[in-house]
Amino acid sequence: MRILVTGGAGFLGSHLCDRLLADGHDIVCLDNLFTGSKANIAHLAGNPNFEFVRHDIIDPFKYEVEQIYNLACPASPPHYQYNPIKTTKTSVMGAINCLGLARRVKARVFQASTSEVYGDPAVHPQPESYWGNVNPIGRRSCYDEGKRCAETLFFDYHRENKVDIRVVRIFNTYGPRMHPNDGRVVSNLIVQALKGENLTVYGDGTQTRAFCYVDDLIEGFVRLMNQTETVGPINLGNPGEITMLELAEQVLKLTKSKSKIVHKPLPADDPRQRRPDITLARKFLKWEPKVPLAEGLKHTIAYFKTKI
Ligand code: NAD
Ligand code: UDP
Repeated sequence: MRILVTGGAGFLGSHLCDRLLADGHDIVCLDNLFTGSKANIAHLAGNPNFEFVRHDIIDPFKYEVEQIYNLACPASPPHYQYNPIKTTKTSVMGAINCLGLARRVKARVFQASTSEVYGDPAVHPQPESYWGNVNPIGRRSCYDEGKRCAETLFFDYHRENKVDIRVVRIFNTYGPRMHPNDGRVVSNLIVQALKGENLTVYGDGTQTRAFCYVDDLIEGFVRLMNQTETVGPINLGNPGEITMLELAEQVLKLTKSKSKIVHKPLPADDPRQRRPDITLARKFLKWEPKVPLAEGLKHTIAYFKTKI
């Protein structure tokens, strides 16, 4: 198939391009390189089945493709808060542009949504039926509400225009090609440990997240896209929940670093807890994560060692 991947030069997008090329598809990778980089896709240059297009998703585009994966959007809080109005535009206008194209060329279109649609969740773990607890006017709102509005657009194009959609809600995912300065907790802690700097744990470190290794996530993407039982939304993530303090201790152990843990203020609206309920992914996709946290962290540490 000919497949468009928006955000294809980013962390997840570049792994998705690798996977789709390995499966024998022809890929158009569209990215404005805001948080992504040519380095993430440098190994694909010269591949006759791979084409990179530098383009901003808020401006319309047209490609004759059979599938569209829409991943274009900065994902780490410092990056999406850098230009919050642009972040909302990217989610909302990017969704409209992808959906309009999908309608015209009759492509199946996939939206990379997020566990952030659940906000600071009052239900734990989070099933897809939970409507969330999101602050509409806070620092995280440009991302959370942008992604929520994108989901609304996907379901309205599906109901009104019969566009063939798939919507995934991604929980915290990590692995090689994360941006070393993107401010997310896994990349921050590993880079700090390798440089011998203090590990920054925000707040008291008792807030929880559940971390999925990138290879597991990409397998879930491809399964969701290529089945016809459900359009979603469907949670993909690893149900193994840990506190940020435990994560920092694990990073210190695996890197054998002598760095110290220091506490920094907790950012506004930082969710207290997060863990996916993956019952639907198990049922419809026969999917569950396979890579344990310690193993995934080892691969990620090995990657960052080459970057520092
Ligand atoms: P990333 O920042 O590495 O990748 C995003 C990519 O989109 C980058 O290559 C960036 O340059 C590109 N981009 C941003 N704005 C754009 C625009 N206006 N036009 C064209 N390209 C643009 O982040 P990621 O972790 O790879 O996330 C990919 C997608 O998955 C995002 O939509 C994100 O919201 C979603 N997601 C990721 C996670 C995670 O844990 N990694 C969790 C939930 C959701
Ligand atoms: N965090 C931290 N130290 C850091 C970066 C993040 O303790 O250097 C915390 C952050 O406050 C949050 C958790 O780690 O509670 C996950 O943050 P991240 O930005 O990776 O993802 P998100 O908050 O979007 O889940």
